[in-house]
Amino acid sequence: MGRVVVFGSFVVDLMSRTPHLPVPGETVKGSVFKMGPGGKGFNQGVAAHKAGAEVSMVTKLGKDSFADVALDTMHTLGMDTSHIFQTEEAETGSALIMVEEKSSQNEIVVVLGACSRITDAEVESLSDLLSGAEYLLTQLETNVSAVEKLVEMAKERGVKVILNTAPVQPISDQLLSRVDLITPNEVEAETLSGIAVTDEENAGRAADWFFQKGVKAVMITLGGRGVYIATREKRGMLPAFRVDAVDTTGAGDAFNGGLVTALAEGKDLWEAAIFASALAALSVQRIGTTPSMPVRAEIDAFLQEHREEQHD
Ligand code: ADP
Repeated sequence: MGRVVVFGSFVVDLMSRTPHLPVPGETVKGSVFKMGPGGKGFNQGVAAHKAGAEVSMVTKLGKDSFADVALDTMHTLGMDTSHIFQTEEAETGSALIMVEEKSSQNEIVVVLGACSRITDAEVESLSDLLSGAEYLLTQLETNVSAVEKLVEMAKERGVKVILNTAPVQPISDQLLSRVDLITPNEVEAETLSGIAVTDEENAGRAADWFFQKGVKAVMITLGGRGVYIATREKRGMLPAFRVDAVDTTGAGDAFNGGLVTALAEGKDLWEAAIFASALAALSVQRIGTTPSMPVRAEIDAFLQEHREEQHD
């Protein structure tokens, strides 16, 4: 099994549930408060680790009590913390999340802090780590300059690159040309390609746009509808598993963590997408992001139970 480097953000999620979202100047008495680890990079790293991958998690924290939320979680889960950068010059990332009880509408303020200030020197220090890796999984939530540099280094070392384009923002053609597998959701696919992904045909056109940029494989995730998978040779829809979703935040993170795990185990793109869909289907049945990621035994049991739903 190949080693996986997951490079990305860490934020502490501070979530309050409230009868209504406050208007400016208003204080509302909320009902529930929860604090826990989050951030797209960290969620994906934890998902992959719990699913059985050999993960080297790379992120950047401040030197404050929120940093311990990341480090304690990693120690509890038995994750390697030797590639976590820390700085006194910025605070650990945080996300203030307010969720309206009835509507589930939310308002979020993310301050990425340390993980949006990863320096070139820090990225360069990952050279040996990359040399021993088979896959790099990254997103767009850290500073993109770091992502660009790391992806370039990965390509030079023959490491396969998976880019999850969340949160979406303009990216250079040069970065795209170095990506082996891109995993936008439908909104991100539209923002990047300019093609509205309303059905399978449009998803195919968006995939072709990515191919023209040099990307080798495309998976456009479509929430509860599943995922559109395309290589130059083969394309089609893989429907999502039918489950009762209670919280779909972090579904994409679960999917990406599962995907890299299965690929590093040698599964092909389609088998890997089935594994990733199972992991995501389990995670949407639980509240939260990082804590909602299932362990390998749960994923295997789920796949056993839902064998008849799998398509190829
Ligand atoms: P993101 O969180 O990035 O927007 P999506 O919502 O597209 O990602 O979800 C990613 C994957 O998670 C989907 O392709 C699907 O496999 C799974 N998923 C998402 N929502 C559901 C759901 N309601 N039921 C089952 N699986 C889901």
